Amino acid sequence: MKIETLYIVVPCYNETEVLPATTHQLTTLLQRMVEQQLVSAESRILYVDDGSADGTWTLIEQLAAEHPGVCGVKLAGNVGHQNALMAGLETAIEAADLTVTIDADLQDDINVIPDMVARWRDGADIVYGVRRERKTDTWFKRTTALAFYRLMARLGVKSVYNHADYRLMSRRAVAQLMRYRERNLFLRGIVPLVGYRTDSVYYDRSARLAGESKYPLSKMLSFAVDGITSFSIKPVRMVLTLGIIFTLIALAILIYTLVAYFSGRTVSGWASLILSLWFIGGCVLIGLGVVGEYIGKIYIEVKDRPRYNIETRLLK
Ligand code: UDP
Ligand code: MG
Repeated sequence: MKIETLYIVVPCYNETEVLPATTHQLTTLLQRMVEQQLVSAESRILYVDDGSADGTWTLIEQLAAEHPGVCGVKLAGNVGHQNALMAGLETAIEAADLTVTIDADLQDDINVIPDMVARWRDGADIVYGVRRERKTDTWFKRTTALAFYRLMARLGVKSVYNHADYRLMSRRAVAQLMRYRERNLFLRGIVPLVGYRTDSVYYDRSARLAGESKYPLSKMLSFAVDGITSFSIKPVRMVLTLGIIFTLIALAILIYTLVAYFSGRTVSGWASLILSLWFIGGCVLIGLGVVGEYIGKIYIEVKDRPRYNIETRLLK
């Protein structure tokens, strides 16, 4: 039986504080997996330095010299977590049969990686790491995250609840993912679109090993907005709906003003003013909504996403 090669892809942005500990844990795990013949001896930990401003890259070079299982790529400039992940996957896929992506701070339990590999052997192309609970996150992070997942689901975006970017992907799943050429990356939303068989493993999320979160509130918010606007044109539709509602209100007000006008209960000028206010408002919103609908279509076209993904062929 051929033993497959695993690459663990780890994006790192200013992570000098945490990398030595991370490396120790990951190399120990990888060695054990190699010994148990779960993965081949060519398996690696691939650090992606996302344009760090501290000595992260020098440290990665040092760690790579010390440990045969560690290698790295350095990105020219900070491109953000999602793009760094993509860069790592694209590099890993040259040699790997399967990849696992995980954050450098090891908040996600690495001990489920063998389990992920087992699920993959059972036929899943994508295995999600799902947090069982979020005790160690702050109340604020938990609540905002929950609200975000709910909103995404409402807007019709498929995503896995309580799953971040800790997942195993087979080579063909990564290859398909690479066909999504869009620049506004929201991997959690794209990966479910790949369509292959998926599975999940569950774990408890722990606190950051060391260092500080690289996701301040501002980044979290822009990430959330990215997630919504990259997958849904429903917000544009809402404008259209609002326009129609306003026009309907204008109609109701038309009736009301006419009645008021003829029964002489109005100040002069009021009827025409209040009517035009609602009517024009409604027209403007409908106009915006219609234009938005076209822009939404253009947006979808521009993304140039693959239309389908063939799972198996049975040709003669
Ligand atoms: N990260 C990155 N580029 C960035 C910001 C973050 O590669 O611009 C990496 C970071 O090094 C870490 C992962 O993304 O490996 C997740 O960041 P963090 O743990 O700070 O986020 P949190 O867990 O607080 O959401
Ligand atoms: Mg973290």
